[in-house]
Order: sequence, then C-alpha cells, then structure tokens
Amino acid sequence: MDARLGDVIDDFCVKCRRLTNHSVVSLLNGAAAKVRCRTCYSDHDYRNEQAPPSKKDLKKAELFNAVLSGVAPPPPPAGDADGEADSKKGAKKPGKRAEA
Ligand SMILES: [Zn+2]
Repeated sequence: MDARLGDVIDDFCVKCRRLTNHSVVSLLNGAAAKVRCRTCYSDHDYRNEQAPPSKKDLKKAELFNAVLSGVAPPPPPAGDADGEADSKKGAKKPGKRAEA
C-alpha cells in the first residue's frame, strides 16, 4: 500500500475512542507512520485501524513479560502470602508453622 502525506485514512483514535478519518502526517517505507485525527486533531502513530489493548490486557501482558524475563511477579492479592511474610519478618520460628 502506498500512502502519501495528507492522505485521509481510517484509524482508531484513542481520544475519540473510535475509528475516525485521519490525515497521514508521517511516512515510513511508503506506509503511514503517523497520522492526525481529523476530528480532534491529535497526532499519534498509525495503528493499522486496531484499537489499543485495554488496561486489563496491558496488565496481563506485563505480568506475562515479568514471568518471561525471570522477574518474580507481584504476589497475588489473596491466598499464598507465605513468601512475603518470610521475607519481611526476620524472626523465623523453627518448626511447624500454624496453618489455619
Ligand atoms: Zn480523535
């Protein structure tokens, strides 16, 4: 696809939160790189008409990447809190731990 500066193309605008007309303001390898929304006039990278991932998805991806890179993910909100308690409190009692 050959885009040209000033071409009007559809893209997803995060400010308008929908597909709107955009003008091409920057090109990369003959394709749109940056576009300007013709409704709110904000510039952003051309996202191939794809809506950006939701915050929920971003959080999931973040967690996933943390696991991939070997970084321990933050402890889950409920349940398995043993590891955290051990690292925070230096006083480890020998023997059996009282589990409810
Ligand atoms: Zn817009």
